Amino acid sequence: MRFVILTLVLAVLGGCSVPVPPLQTADAPNTGSVGGSVPGLSPREAQAAFSTVKARVEPVAEQTCRTQTRGMNCDFAIVIDPDPQAPPNAYQSLSRSGRPVITFTRSMLGQIANQDELAFVMAHEAAHHIEGHLARQQQNAVAGSVLLAGLASLAGGSAAEISNAQDLGAIVGARSYSKEFELEADRLGTLITHKAGYRPSVGVKFFDRLPDPGDRFLGTHPANPDRVRIVQETITRYGLN
Ligand SMILES: [Zn+2]
Repeated sequence: MRFVILTLVLAVLGGCSVPVPPLQTADAPNTGSVGGSVPGLSPREAQAAFSTVKARVEPVAEQTCRTQTRGMNCDFAIVIDPDPQAPPNAYQSLSRSGRPVITFTRSMLGQIANQDELAFVMAHEAAHHIEGHLARQQQNAVAGSVLLAGLASLAGGSAAEISNAQDLGAIVGARSYSKEFELEADRLGTLITHKAGYRPSVGVKFFDRLPDPGDRFLGTHPANPDRVRIVQETITRYGLN
């Protein structure tokens, strides 16, 4: 039984090495670099596009949040990370006071080709908050932790082994659900993008330029074709463009 646990633990460690950030859902291009051939906006254009897109997406995201949830803080803050060295990333987090914050790093803005793409990524992040993914991811992490710690103590593990299994279980629990959350956020993000006056069919092309994370069990993001498919399905179902 101990051998089984160890094998499980090794299999898990083989699949992932990056800890899950506890209080944010991040949407980085997975390798940290999308390559040099991106038809990105200049820093000045990116800044202007950010202000324009934010002015249109934020009210739609807030209205969608208030319509679809109860008792949730829907007062989004959408900001640019001032650190010019921060790697390409866009993520949703909660401020100390519980306000939903969507952060773009400058290098992420540099990867964006047009306003439709920027709107799509912004709407996707807002959708993570509206769908309650942070809280649900933490619940999943707790459930995974309890499960693996239970297995370790059944196998007669020491206190340290049980504690390790708890940490590992938290990672597995959080990661094994996050692909589903990404696709949920893509679906609702498609609707928000459209309502804000942008084209999700153009915005989704952002994924074409990301390295495909493939279909790894522990990957935090779905394979790119799965994401494109969910956006296309939503577009067709609601007759969007
Ligand atoms: Zn996401």
